[in-house]
Amino acid sequence: MYRALSRRDAAYEGVFFTGVKTTGIFCRPTCRAKKPKSENVEFFPTVVEALHRGYRPCRLCHPMDVTKPVPPLVEKLRRKVEEAADGRVTDKELAAMNVDPSTARRQFKAYHGMTFHAYQRARRMGLALRDVKSGRPVIEVQLDRGYESTSGFREAFARVFGESPAGARAMDCLLARRIETPLGSMLALADKEGLRLLEFVDRRGLERELVALRRRLKCPIVPGNSGTLDETARQLGEYFAGNRMKFDLPLAPVGSDFQRRVWAELQRIAPGQTRSYAEMAKRLGLPKAPRAIGRANGSNMLAIVIPCHRVIRADGSLCGYAGGIWRKQRLLEHERKFAR
Ligand SMILES: [Zn+2]
Repeated sequence: MYRALSRRDAAYEGVFFTGVKTTGIFCRPTCRAKKPKSENVEFFPTVVEALHRGYRPCRLCHPMDVTKPVPPLVEKLRRKVEEAADGRVTDKELAAMNVDPSTARRQFKAYHGMTFHAYQRARRMGLALRDVKSGRPVIEVQLDRGYESTSGFREAFARVFGESPAGARAMDCLLARRIETPLGSMLALADKEGLRLLEFVDRRGLERELVALRRRLKCPIVPGNSGTLDETARQLGEYFAGNRMKFDLPLAPVGSDFQRRVWAELQRIAPGQTRSYAEMAKRLGLPKAPRAIGRANGSNMLAIVIPCHRVIRADGSLCGYAGGIWRKQRLLEHERKFAR
């Protein structure tokens, strides 16, 4: 934790808080304040524990605002994109809003991991795809989205989707949105079948999962929102507030028959409970396959809602979790506290 603190590692946002003994102040791991010496620091899993130990919240990093707020400029930019008829915001328009384009680029990239231009491009293409799929004439879509030349539109479209606009009519796309939680940001992907992926954005191997999904489903991933994604965000909010332990979402995990069997079994582990790999193997009627079951467990792409974090070692110790062992521990503590 001290290493994360000295690096101001944003992946640990919400995972722990730091109390500084010399000042009596507690902070987020990413606080801009000068970093204290390790002997003057103690760590707390929650704000409440820091408060109970007599610390007061830092005025620089506002640790009481549990989830990382969207930077106001980023929010403003996203809104501007939504409002723009053709989904495009030019540098000139930014200047008219008194926004320096390079600041916009930097902040947007820092928060979303993609440049403002890339976001607009992806968003415009997502909208174009939706229009084309709804049956609107390609030429109309092209003009509405601000493409003057037909060939330019076709080329840009094919670059993103690997398909011509006409060929894309039958194609589905995966909508992606980010969901903030007290344990850090998550990425959620859904299509009309349901939720396909829910992972912490710093999960190791996430890139690989995205490539695999795109390949299996033969469809592109574009930023956007849908009823399923909204509902996922809402239910996750209730989960973290302790008001919901069971999810009621259309899940559409992508995997082999064997993986799906294991994932179905995971969903039978009640909140507040844990199981060992050996127990899982026995219940699945595969007593000799705990390793294969472990691998299937690790390849679950629907974190939290398919509760792979509820599988632990036979001796009760926690074993690996791609989202970080910290999170596994915090999830289990949270569920023990709120499960009835
Ligand atoms: Zn601070």
